[in-house]
Amino acid sequence: MTTYITGGTLATPYQALPGQALVVDGDKITAVVAADQVPADANVIDASGMWVVPGLIDVHVHGSDGADTMDATPEALHTMARFFAKHGVTGYFPTTMSAPADAIKRAIENVASCPQPDDGAQHLGVHVEGPYLNTDYPGAQPPSVLRLPDPAEYRFWLESGVVKLITLAPEVEGAHDLIREGVARGVEFAAGHTGAEYDQVQAAVGIGLRQATHTFSAMLGLHHRRPGTVGAVLTDDRIYAQLIGDGIHTHPSVVKLLARAKGNTRTILITDAMRAAGMPDGEYDLGGTMVRVQDGVARLSADVLAGSTATLDAVLRNMMNFAGVSLVEALPMATAVPAEAMGLSGRKGVLAVGADADVVLLDVKYQVALTMVAGRVVYRAS
Ligand SMILES: [Zn+2]
Repeated sequence: MTTYITGGTLATPYQALPGQALVVDGDKITAVVAADQVPADANVIDASGMWVVPGLIDVHVHGSDGADTMDATPEALHTMARFFAKHGVTGYFPTTMSAPADAIKRAIENVASCPQPDDGAQHLGVHVEGPYLNTDYPGAQPPSVLRLPDPAEYRFWLESGVVKLITLAPEVEGAHDLIREGVARGVEFAAGHTGAEYDQVQAAVGIGLRQATHTFSAMLGLHHRRPGTVGAVLTDDRIYAQLIGDGIHTHPSVVKLLARAKGNTRTILITDAMRAAGMPDGEYDLGGTMVRVQDGVARLSADVLAGSTATLDAVLRNMMNFAGVSLVEALPMATAVPAEAMGLSGRKGVLAVGADADVVLLDVKYQVALTMVAGRVVYRAS
């Protein structure tokens, strides 16, 4: 069946196109036509007064709504998928925590065998965060399970076909072997939980690492004579920088700083959300550790932040507010840029002929009004 999404302004995302209708056939976008070309008897979704935007993509998200990737059950992924759809997310990369080898393996196998839901966001592959991290920068990752890259463990990840992104500290022994082997198989790498010096980041980028995990959090900071990990991430245009844009993990002024340094072709907005997202304050498990959530802020201790309780639509609005940019300026950071960084250019994160019909309607306050995944409406605000 052909559906016309008409009456709104398309954000492709880099361009605003008023007076155009998006044509969806099956699970693909098949045409963009002038709104006055829509047949009178057509099947129509009325987007009057709204923005029509590509579905949002979260490359770094552990859980939500009481569920976590490490639960390793189809029910957990289903719960997350439905929650994300309410927040305009049509594709996400379930993210693992540092844990014993068999726990990570179970989480990977679960995603690999879990069918896509017909009522929520699609899982697009696993993001393995840790355990090959620098023990000086654990953040909320359990320090006791951090270890050096072990081919006997990671070969399974690389051969699974479902692991698409690995966060590691590029300076640890054996990291380069893993990066080389993974890149050859089309896996992306992100520097995170790292004390890598400027030169060490550049060396890793030289062999194919292309992302930074939650930039600024749990990495060697910037000093004007010792640029560190942050200095390399901010200045090397080859690096896509993930940012938890919740205004808590990074101060609003630092969100603005990253937007200025990396622009809307190299910034990736993420939530890094945990199972407490969408849930009331209380105590929640994060990778086997109890995390206290108060006023929506998840903490391991007084000075260590755990995962967030943010949603990607809110993070997008934060970016607009904190950096003082328009929707069309901020939108690529949650759509086309994560798609490009994950090798999904043209298929995901854009409103273009031939792309997957992952489409979201945003109202005048940029709240999610409708979410379509693969041509099917999975969420409508009441
Ligand atoms: Zn992390």
